[in-house]
Amino acid sequence: MSVQRKKDRFELLRMASSLLYRKGEGPRQQHPTVWCNRGITTGTDQAGVWRAVDGSNARLSGVITCGAVWTCPVCAAKISEERRKDLSQAMAGHVAAGGHAYLLTLTFPHESDMPLGELLEKFAKARQSWANSRTYKRIMGEKGDRGTAGRLGTVNALEVTVGKANGWHPHVHALVFAVPGAFGEGDPINPAGDLASGAIDELKGAWVKALQKAGLCAVSQVSDVFKHGLNVRGGAKAAEYIAKFGKDERWGASSELTRNHAKVGTVGEIAGDMHFTPFQLLQFVISGDGWAAARFREYAEAFHGRRMLSWSPGLRKALRLADDREDDEIAADDRPAPEEEQVGTISIEDLSALVSRNMLGDFHRYVAESCIHPERAQQDIDDYLRMVKAMPKFGRGQVLKRATFDKNERIRAVEPVEYRDAA
Ligand SMILES: [Zn+2]
Repeated sequence: MSVQRKKDRFELLRMASSLLYRKGEGPRQQHPTVWCNRGITTGTDQAGVWRAVDGSNARLSGVITCGAVWTCPVCAAKISEERRKDLSQAMAGHVAAGGHAYLLTLTFPHESDMPLGELLEKFAKARQSWANSRTYKRIMGEKGDRGTAGRLGTVNALEVTVGKANGWHPHVHALVFAVPGAFGEGDPINPAGDLASGAIDELKGAWVKALQKAGLCAVSQVSDVFKHGLNVRGGAKAAEYIAKFGKDERWGASSELTRNHAKVGTVGEIAGDMHFTPFQLLQFVISGDGWAAARFREYAEAFHGRRMLSWSPGLRKALRLADDREDDEIAADDRPAPEEEQVGTISIEDLSALVSRNMLGDFHRYVAESCIHPERAQQDIDDYLRMVKAMPKFGRGQVLKRATFDKNERIRAVEPVEYRDAA
C-alpha cells in the first residue's frame, strides 16, 4: 500500500466516522469505527510514531483501533493484508501437497426493493439449505466425508456491491480445498483439477432450488439463475482471487470508475447498473452524494458483527494451519515490523489537533516521506504539528475522546479531552 493510499484511507475513515456518529447517544453506544484512531490506548497519553526505513509507510502505535473490517478503511487494509497472506500460504501448501482448489461464486437476482438486512438473511438461508441439500452433500461431502469432489473444506468470503438502479448485490466467493485422486471411477475431478460439468450442473440446480425456497428467485428467473447464479472456476482463478484479496483494486478507492461516478454523482445521475463497493460509497459521500451516505449507513448496520471470511470447521487443522487471529486483534497489533523504526511520539492533544483538522492521513504521509533523519525526526514532527495547530478546525466530526479500557482491553468509557491550541 502506497503512502498516498494510506492517506486516502484516513480520509475515508474520517468520512465513515462522521457518517456513523449518532448524535445524542453516549460514547459507548457509538459504532466502534467512530473512535478508530481517535484515542490513545497506552495510558501514558503518548502515541508512538513509526516509519518504514525506506519511506514507504508510517504508522502510530498505542492508538485505539476499531478492527471493524466492513466499515473502517484503515483497519480493513491491515486485516485483509494478514488474511491474504494467510490464505495464499494455505493455498500454496495445499497445492504443493498435490491438492486442488475451486472458486465458487454464489449470487442471486437483483432485488432492488429489499432492504439489505433482509437480503442478507435470505441469502444466508439459501446457502444453508444448499449446503443441506442431498446433491451438495453427495458432491461436496459433509462431516468428515469428502464427497465425490474430495472436498476438505471451504473458506467463504462475503462481499457486497451496490448500484443505483439494481440496489444491493451481496455475493459469496467460496474457496473449496479438495484432495484429488482417490475416487476411482466417476471421479468428478478431471486431470486439470476442475469439477466435471455434470457435477457443476447438479450443484447449480440445487442452488436454484435453495434460492427459490428462500424467496430470492422467481419462477421467471429460473433459467437465468441456472446460468449465472453459481459460477465454478478452477485453481488458477482461486489463486488469482486470493492474490487480490483486500487489495486496492478490489475496493477501487482511486480507480477511474470512482472519479467518474464522483463527477456524475454531483448532478444526481448514474448510468445503468454500475456497481460500487462500500468504500467507494465513502468516496462519493466526500463529493456530497446523499444516496451514498444513506447506503453506507444501511450497509454498516446490516454487516455489523458479520464475518468477512469463514473457514469451515476442521479445515485449518486439515491443512496443518494454526488458528487465525480475530479481526480486532490484528488491527490492534502494534508490534514493530523488521523494516520499521520509531522516530518520535505525539501526545493525545497532538492527535486531537490532527483529527480536528483532518490532517491525520497527511501526517502519516509526511512522516513517511519527510522524517528521514531519525535524530531530527521528533523536531520535524513538532514543526509539522505547530503548523497544523495554526490551521482552523473543521466543522464536522470533532468527537475525539480519551478512552479507558477494561481488563480485556475493550473500551469501557470515553471521556471528552479538553484541547487547547499551542500558544
Ligand atoms: Zn478502524
